[in-house]
Amino acid sequence: MRIDIISAVPALMESAFNHSILKRAIANNLVEINLINLRDYSINNKQKQIDDYAFGGGAGMVLMIEPIDKCISELKLKRTYDEIIYMSPDGELLNQNNCNRFSLMKNIIILCGHYKGVDERVRQHLITKEISIGDYVLSGGELAACVLSDSIIRLIPGVMNDETSALSDSFQDNLLAPPVYTRPAEYNTWKVPEILLSGHTENIEKWRHTESILRTKERRPGLFNSDKE
Ligand code: SAH
Repeated sequence: MRIDIISAVPALMESAFNHSILKRAIANNLVEINLINLRDYSINNKQKQIDDYAFGGGAGMVLMIEPIDKCISELKLKRTYDEIIYMSPDGELLNQNNCNRFSLMKNIIILCGHYKGVDERVRQHLITKEISIGDYVLSGGELAACVLSDSIIRLIPGVMNDETSALSDSFQDNLLAPPVYTRPAEYNTWKVPEILLSGHTENIEKWRHTESILRTKERRPGLFNSDKE
């Protein structure tokens, strides 16, 4: 899979892809991440302009359509894209279902907005999907793009050490994950549930499933009724 991320401040995202699971996935060629500086496509080479004031007035700058169009057009010359995603607080809410769907794709572009956002014509004509990571507003799309990329990449077969570990995470079955414990078995008189120390795999699996259901009922009852694709 290849993810091209277009941003006015690509350096903001470097660290996210340079550690732990994502770093290993890139090193093992399971995913290719291409951070693109929108300023390389600025309309004016000297000032590297990529944004301007909003028509009609008001505070805040708007990313212009021309640099974004130039950048996306250049990318599209080299490969076809399954999805061109704009990160936006009013987009479709990111959840495990759309993460699963994205993880099966071959090439995607993620566009990060900044300041007041992007010229609406970018959204109307150049973008195929808009994704929000939650009902709150960030100052730029970069952190949201990292969240989206991370949630997708960890689902690519081979990225996690034990493939089943991504599948047993919260939301995969519309259930929250059960509690987990590690050594010591007792700390400050706080004990690990006996069953987990029993070595009886089948009973442990049953216990985990029951705990998942209890936890989901208690914290996110709505998940039981949510659609599975
Ligand atoms: N004026 C816009 C917000 C702009 S915030 C509005 O009120 O809707 C600047 C940029 O941050 C956006 O263009 C978007 O790319 C990103 N962003 C902010 N919040 C986000 C969220 N919840 N999910 C995804 N991207 C977000």
